Amino acid sequence: MIEYFKDKKRVTTPPYAVFQADEEDTVVTLYESGKVLFQGISADVDAALWREMDKQSNVKDYYWSSSIGSDEVGTGDYFGPIVVTAAYVRIKDIEFLENFRIGDSKNFTDSQIIKLVPKFIRKIKHTTIIINNIDYNKFYGADCNLNKIKAIGHNRVLFNLKNKIKKYDYIIVDQFTSPKSYYKFLNDTTNLVKDITFLTKAEDRHLSVACASLISRYHFIREMNKLSKKVGIKLPYGAKEITISTGKEIVNKYGENYLKNIAKLNFKNTDKILKD
Ligand code: MG
Repeated sequence: MIEYFKDKKRVTTPPYAVFQADEEDTVVTLYESGKVLFQGISADVDAALWREMDKQSNVKDYYWSSSIGSDEVGTGDYFGPIVVTAAYVRIKDIEFLENFRIGDSKNFTDSQIIKLVPKFIRKIKHTTIIINNIDYNKFYGADCNLNKIKAIGHNRVLFNLKNKIKKYDYIIVDQFTSPKSYYKFLNDTTNLVKDITFLTKAEDRHLSVACASLISRYHFIREMNKLSKKVGIKLPYGAKEITISTGKEIVNKYGENYLKNIAKLNFKNTDKILKD
Protein backbone atom coordinates (compact mmCIF):
# COMPACT_ATOMS: atom_id res chain seq x y z
CA MET A 1 0.00 0.00 0.00
CA ILE A 2 2.82 2.35 0.89
CA GLU A 3 4.37 1.68 -2.49
CA TYR A 4 1.08 2.05 -4.35
CA PHE A 5 0.11 5.35 -2.73
CA LYS A 6 3.62 6.81 -2.91
CA ASP A 7 2.60 9.42 -5.49
CA LYS A 8 -0.94 10.01 -4.24
CA LYS A 9 -0.01 10.99 -0.71
CA ARG A 10 -1.30 14.19 0.83
CA VAL A 11 1.18 16.71 2.16
CA THR A 12 -0.11 16.45 5.71
CA THR A 13 -0.47 13.24 7.69
CA PRO A 14 -2.95 12.84 10.56
CA PRO A 15 -1.65 11.79 14.00
CA TYR A 16 -0.53 8.12 14.20
CA ALA A 17 -0.87 7.72 10.44
CA VAL A 18 1.79 6.56 7.98
CA PHE A 19 0.11 8.44 5.16
CA GLN A 20 -3.17 9.82 3.93
CA ALA A 21 -3.84 9.68 0.21
CA ASP A 22 -6.51 10.38 -2.39
CA GLU A 23 -7.70 7.70 -4.79
CA GLU A 24 -10.36 9.28 -7.02
CA ASP A 25 -13.01 10.29 -4.47
CA THR A 26 -11.80 8.00 -1.68
CA VAL A 27 -9.51 9.17 1.09
CA VAL A 28 -7.23 6.39 2.28
CA THR A 29 -5.43 6.58 5.63
CA LEU A 30 -2.92 3.97 6.74
CA TYR A 31 -2.24 3.98 10.48
CA GLU A 32 0.91 2.88 12.27
CA SER A 33 -1.09 0.02 13.81
CA GLY A 34 -1.58 -1.40 10.30
CA LYS A 35 -5.23 -0.36 10.21
CA VAL A 36 -6.49 1.29 7.02
CA LEU A 37 -9.38 3.73 6.85
CA PHE A 38 -11.31 4.30 3.61
CA GLN A 39 -13.55 7.37 3.48
CA GLY A 40 -15.82 8.70 0.74
CA ILE A 41 -18.61 7.56 -1.60
CA SER A 42 -16.59 4.69 -3.10
CA ALA A 43 -14.93 3.76 0.18
CA ASP A 44 -16.65 0.37 0.36
CA VAL A 45 -15.57 -0.58 -3.15
CA ASP A 46 -11.96 0.43 -2.52
CA ALA A 47 -11.87 -1.31 0.85
CA ALA A 48 -13.23 -4.53 -0.67
CA LEU A 49 -10.61 -4.36 -3.41
CA TRP A 50 -7.74 -4.03 -0.94
CA ARG A 51 -9.22 -6.64 1.35
CA GLU A 52 -9.27 -9.11 -1.55
CA MET A 53 -5.67 -8.28 -2.45
CA ASP A 54 -4.70 -8.65 1.18
CA LYS A 55 -6.31 -12.10 1.35
CA GLN A 56 -4.43 -13.22 -1.74
CA SER A 57 -1.05 -11.83 -0.77
CA ASN A 58 1.55 -14.36 0.37
CA VAL A 59 2.39 -12.39 3.49
CA LYS A 60 1.27 -14.51 6.40
CA ASP A 61 -1.98 -12.93 7.47
CA TYR A 62 -3.70 -14.12 10.58
CA TYR A 63 -6.62 -11.69 10.38
CA TRP A 64 -8.75 -13.70 7.95
CA SER A 65 -8.65 -16.93 9.87
CA SER A 66 -10.81 -18.75 12.42
CA SER A 67 -8.61 -18.59 15.46
CA ILE A 68 -8.38 -18.71 19.21
CA GLY A 69 -6.66 -15.79 20.90
CA SER A 70 -5.85 -14.91 24.49
CA ASP A 71 -4.95 -11.83 26.46
CA GLU A 72 -4.75 -10.79 30.10
CA VAL A 73 -5.27 -7.64 32.17
CA GLY A 74 -4.52 -6.50 35.68
CA THR A 75 -0.84 -7.36 35.68
CA GLY A 76 0.23 -3.72 35.94
CA ASP A 77 -2.40 -2.84 38.50
CA TYR A 78 -1.47 -2.94 42.17
CA PHE A 79 -5.06 -3.42 43.23
CA GLY A 80 -7.39 -6.06 41.89
CA PRO A 81 -7.19 -9.46 40.20
CA ILE A 82 -5.54 -10.71 37.05
CA VAL A 83 -8.08 -11.67 34.42
CA VAL A 84 -7.16 -13.94 31.51
CA THR A 85 -9.49 -14.72 28.61
CA ALA A 86 -9.29 -16.87 25.51
CA ALA A 87 -11.80 -16.16 22.74
CA TYR A 88 -12.63 -17.90 19.48
CA VAL A 89 -13.40 -15.78 16.44
CA ARG A 90 -14.36 -17.42 13.15
CA ILE A 91 -13.98 -15.80 9.76
CA LYS A 92 -17.77 -15.41 9.65
CA ASP A 93 -17.72 -13.43 12.95
CA ILE A 94 -15.27 -10.83 11.68
CA GLU A 95 -17.75 -8.54 9.96
CA PHE A 96 -20.14 -8.64 12.92
CA LEU A 97 -17.30 -7.69 15.27
CA GLU A 98 -15.96 -4.99 12.98
CA ASN A 99 -19.31 -3.18 13.40
CA PHE A 100 -18.32 -2.51 17.01
CA ARG A 101 -14.88 -1.13 16.06
CA ILE A 102 -13.37 -3.71 18.35
CA GLY A 103 -9.95 -3.13 16.84
CA ASP A 104 -9.83 0.24 18.62
CA SER A 105 -10.37 -1.33 22.03
CA LYS A 106 -7.24 0.19 23.57
CA ASN A 107 -8.87 3.61 23.46
CA PHE A 108 -12.17 2.54 25.01
CA THR A 109 -13.18 3.95 28.37
CA ASP A 110 -14.55 1.80 31.19
CA SER A 111 -18.13 2.82 30.51
CA GLN A 112 -17.74 2.08 26.79
CA ILE A 113 -16.44 -1.40 27.60
CA ILE A 114 -19.26 -2.08 30.05
CA LYS A 115 -21.77 -1.18 27.32
CA LEU A 116 -19.97 -2.84 24.42
CA VAL A 117 -18.94 -6.26 25.67
CA PRO A 118 -22.46 -7.57 26.42
CA LYS A 119 -23.32 -6.85 22.76
CA PHE A 120 -21.02 -9.58 21.47
CA ILE A 121 -20.04 -11.76 24.43
CA ARG A 122 -22.79 -14.34 23.86
CA LYS A 123 -21.90 -14.81 20.21
CA ILE A 124 -18.21 -15.38 20.82
CA LYS A 125 -17.10 -18.59 22.50
CA HIS A 126 -14.67 -17.79 25.28
CA THR A 127 -13.30 -18.82 28.64
CA THR A 128 -12.17 -16.47 31.38
CA ILE A 129 -10.36 -16.97 34.65
CA ILE A 130 -10.08 -14.45 37.42
CA ILE A 131 -7.06 -14.88 39.66
CA ASN A 132 -8.03 -13.08 42.84
CA ASN A 133 -5.51 -11.36 45.09
CA ILE A 134 -5.51 -14.02 47.79
CA ASP A 135 -4.59 -16.73 45.26
CA TYR A 136 -2.11 -14.47 43.49
CA ASN A 137 -0.31 -13.71 46.74
CA LYS A 138 -0.22 -17.42 47.57
CA PHE A 139 1.28 -18.39 44.15
CA TYR A 140 3.75 -15.55 43.95
CA GLY A 141 7.13 -16.41 45.41
CA ALA A 142 10.68 -17.49 44.72
CA ASP A 143 9.63 -20.07 42.14
CA CYS A 144 6.67 -18.21 40.69
CA ASN A 145 6.98 -14.75 39.16
CA LEU A 146 4.38 -12.69 37.33
CA ASN A 147 5.19 -14.21 33.92
CA LYS A 148 4.74 -17.70 35.28
CA ILE A 149 1.35 -16.75 36.69
CA LYS A 150 0.43 -15.30 33.28
CA ALA A 151 1.63 -18.42 31.47
CA ILE A 152 -0.39 -20.68 33.76
CA GLY A 153 -3.45 -18.48 33.24
CA HIS A 154 -3.14 -18.39 29.45
CA ASN A 155 -2.57 -22.11 29.25
CA ARG A 156 -5.61 -22.82 31.37
CA VAL A 157 -8.07 -20.68 29.39
CA LEU A 158 -6.65 -21.91 26.08
CA PHE A 159 -6.92 -25.53 27.15
CA ASN A 160 -10.50 -25.12 28.31
CA LEU A 161 -11.58 -23.30 25.17
CA LYS A 162 -9.69 -25.55 22.78
CA ASN A 163 -11.62 -28.53 24.14
CA LYS A 164 -14.89 -26.90 23.10
CA ILE A 165 -13.80 -26.20 19.54
CA LYS A 166 -13.43 -28.65 16.70
CA LYS A 167 -11.63 -26.58 14.12
CA TYR A 168 -9.31 -23.61 14.29
CA ASP A 169 -6.47 -22.21 12.22
CA TYR A 170 -4.24 -20.70 14.91
CA ILE A 171 -3.95 -20.26 18.63
CA ILE A 172 -2.60 -16.75 19.11
CA VAL A 173 -1.18 -15.41 22.37
CA ASP A 174 -0.35 -11.76 22.83
CA GLN A 175 3.32 -12.28 23.54
CA PHE A 176 4.55 -11.28 27.01
CA THR A 177 7.67 -13.45 27.20
CA SER A 178 9.74 -15.54 24.79
CA PRO A 179 8.12 -18.79 23.63
CA LYS A 180 11.01 -20.65 25.27
CA SER A 181 10.36 -19.10 28.70
CA TYR A 182 6.63 -19.52 28.24
CA TYR A 183 6.94 -23.27 27.87
CA LYS A 184 9.57 -23.45 30.60
CA PHE A 185 7.11 -21.88 33.04
CA LEU A 186 4.69 -24.66 32.14
CA ASN A 187 7.19 -27.50 32.48
CA ASP A 188 5.17 -29.36 35.08
CA THR A 189 1.74 -28.64 33.58
CA THR A 190 -0.21 -31.68 32.45
CA ASN A 191 -2.80 -30.04 30.18
CA LEU A 192 -0.31 -28.16 28.05
CA VAL A 193 -1.43 -26.35 24.88
CA LYS A 194 1.52 -26.59 22.53
CA ASP A 195 0.57 -25.22 19.12
CA ILE A 196 0.72 -21.53 19.99
CA THR A 197 1.60 -18.66 17.68
CA PHE A 198 3.09 -15.84 19.75
CA LEU A 199 2.55 -12.40 18.23
CA THR A 200 3.32 -8.92 19.49
CA LYS A 201 0.46 -6.43 19.28
CA ALA A 202 -1.67 -9.51 18.69
CA GLU A 203 -4.91 -7.61 19.29
CA ASP A 204 -4.29 -5.90 15.93
CA ARG A 205 -3.49 -9.19 14.20
CA HIS A 206 -6.63 -11.16 15.04
CA LEU A 207 -9.96 -10.14 16.51
CA SER A 208 -9.96 -13.12 18.87
CA VAL A 209 -7.18 -11.42 20.83
CA ALA A 210 -8.99 -8.06 20.69
CA CYS A 211 -12.14 -9.77 22.03
CA ALA A 212 -10.13 -11.60 24.69
CA SER A 213 -8.63 -8.30 25.77
CA LEU A 214 -12.04 -6.58 25.94
CA ILE A 215 -13.70 -9.42 27.82
CA SER A 216 -10.81 -9.48 30.30
CA ARG A 217 -11.09 -5.74 30.80
CA TYR A 218 -14.86 -6.04 31.22
CA HIS A 219 -14.43 -8.49 34.08
CA PHE A 220 -11.55 -6.55 35.56
CA ILE A 221 -13.62 -3.35 35.70
CA ARG A 222 -16.51 -5.19 37.33
CA GLU A 223 -14.22 -6.86 39.87
CA MET A 224 -12.62 -3.51 40.72
CA ASN A 225 -16.04 -1.96 41.23
CA LYS A 226 -17.04 -4.83 43.52
CA LEU A 227 -13.81 -4.57 45.51
CA SER A 228 -14.14 -0.79 45.80
CA LYS A 229 -17.66 -1.20 47.14
CA LYS A 230 -16.54 -3.80 49.65
CA VAL A 231 -13.63 -1.67 50.86
CA GLY A 232 -15.67 1.54 50.80
CA ILE A 233 -12.83 3.29 48.99
CA LYS A 234 -12.48 3.73 45.22
CA LEU A 235 -9.54 1.56 44.20
CA PRO A 236 -7.42 3.19 41.48
CA TYR A 237 -5.91 1.40 38.49
CA GLY A 238 -2.18 1.21 37.81
CA ALA A 239 0.59 1.38 40.36
CA LYS A 240 1.19 5.11 40.64
CA GLU A 241 1.29 7.49 43.60
CA ILE A 242 -2.46 7.39 44.14
CA THR A 243 -2.35 3.64 44.79
CA ILE A 244 0.06 4.32 47.67
CA SER A 245 -2.11 6.98 49.32
CA THR A 246 -5.15 4.77 48.83
CA GLY A 247 -3.24 1.82 50.30
CA LYS A 248 -2.35 3.86 53.37
CA GLU A 249 -5.99 4.82 53.80
CA ILE A 250 -7.01 1.16 53.63
CA VAL A 251 -4.33 0.08 56.12
CA ASN A 252 -5.51 2.80 58.53
CA LYS A 253 -9.06 1.55 58.22
CA TYR A 254 -8.58 -2.24 58.23
CA GLY A 255 -4.97 -2.96 59.23
CA GLU A 256 -1.93 -4.24 57.29
CA ASN A 257 -3.23 -7.75 56.95
CA TYR A 258 -6.16 -6.61 54.82
CA LEU A 259 -3.95 -5.68 51.84
CA LYS A 260 -3.53 -9.31 50.79
CA ASN A 261 -7.23 -9.46 49.92
CA ILE A 262 -7.16 -6.61 47.44
CA ALA A 263 -3.57 -5.98 46.28
CA LYS A 264 -0.60 -7.69 44.64
CA LEU A 265 1.75 -7.68 47.59
CA ASN A 266 4.97 -8.24 45.61
CA PHE A 267 4.72 -4.75 44.05
CA LYS A 268 7.08 -2.18 45.59
CA ASN A 269 3.95 -0.22 46.51
CA THR A 270 3.43 -2.49 49.53
CA ASP A 271 6.67 -1.34 51.18
CA LYS A 272 5.83 2.27 50.43
CA ILE A 273 2.38 1.86 51.94
CA LEU A 274 3.66 0.18 55.08
CA LYS A 275 6.69 2.40 55.78
CA ASP A 276 6.62 5.43 58.18
MG1 MG B 1 -1.48 -8.36 26.38
